[in-house]
Amino acid sequence: MNIPFLSLHDVTAKYKDELHEAVLRVVDSGWYLQGKENEEFEKHYAEYIGTKHCIGCANGLDALIWIFRAYIELGVMKPGDEVIVPANTYIATILAITENGLVPVLVEPRKDTLQIDDSLIEERITERTKAICIVHLYGRLAYTEKIGELCKKYNLKLVEDNAQAHGCKFEAKGNEYKRTGSLGDAAGHSFYPGKNLGALGDGGAVTTDDDELAAAIRALANYGSQKKYVFKYTGRNSRLDEIQAAVLDVKLCHLDEDLKARQAIAAYYYDNINNPLITLPKRLPNTENVYHLFPILVGGERRDELQKYLEANGVGTVIHYPIAPHKQECYANEGWNTPQLSLPITEQIADEELSLPMSPTMTIEEAAEVVRLINSWK
Ligand SMILES: *Cc1c(COP(=O)(O)O)cnc(C)c1O
Repeated sequence: MNIPFLSLHDVTAKYKDELHEAVLRVVDSGWYLQGKENEEFEKHYAEYIGTKHCIGCANGLDALIWIFRAYIELGVMKPGDEVIVPANTYIATILAITENGLVPVLVEPRKDTLQIDDSLIEERITERTKAICIVHLYGRLAYTEKIGELCKKYNLKLVEDNAQAHGCKFEAKGNEYKRTGSLGDAAGHSFYPGKNLGALGDGGAVTTDDDELAAAIRALANYGSQKKYVFKYTGRNSRLDEIQAAVLDVKLCHLDEDLKARQAIAAYYYDNINNPLITLPKRLPNTENVYHLFPILVGGERRDELQKYLEANGVGTVIHYPIAPHKQECYANEGWNTPQLSLPITEQIADEELSLPMSPTMTIEEAAEVVRLINSWK
């Protein structure tokens, strides 16, 4: 059996007819930017996430960049201010902070949840701290009530990197739930093709309830302009095009169905993987995980060996991520990244993480084959 890590061909094929129709509708319309398709998608996505505003933009990195840049333009932050952020994240989260001249304060994750350790945050808050940026990495909830309370207590903005967690739910008290992307002050979303809600190219969005922030971001992503040929900010061209918006609107209708398919694969992995050499991340009680990725940890310096073994048996896997941001060349010699900076859990995760095949088109038979191979590995 050949089991790819993710087949985008199959993911697109699942909704092929609707996608063809949507793309052709835009092709035939003669209107390719800032039109009805963006309007519709933004309205539907804001409704889905549960925020007042959704602003489409070029990609997920820009979405995060615009959030911090808008806070600077609005006088909420200034270059040199600090943002608390998990040390184990995709580089884009950190780039959005440093791109704006802000200083990332890297906090270790918990090894059992792979999410920022909220017991380590308060000791890192200083006069210069202006925000906590949480990352719902792997489609797993990073928010905790304690993080919400710290933001209130120290008057910090809560920014969510929701690039990997479209549809993830936080169950508040009672039966109520809120979706990630609506838990803080603003959230950046990526629609990179491989994400849970993926375009057929690049795309991103910001969600927020904040009117002023939304207006600033809409301007920044459109050259800094709110009125044609009048420029309030030195912005950039960072727009979501009409074809991608039309594609995303189709895929948003099927997102919950896709998430259920991912959850079924994940449940199978959880119920059946029993190799003692492998650690599965803890399942959290107050959330519905959307399993963008299914990370496992392989200790004893044997991760790469397992990856090769699976590869030799036709199973594709990917490492997320082999080099932590503070170990990247681009961040050598930064004031916040001294050679003494010690982040052993982050580094351990980088050495031990392996993501198993996971997608809405994967079958239980394929998951069973992955499990059989893993459980017979010694
Ligand atoms: C994908 C991703 C981004 C960036 O999104 P792009 O659309 O690729 O720019 C940001 N943060 C995380 C955690 C991601 O996985």
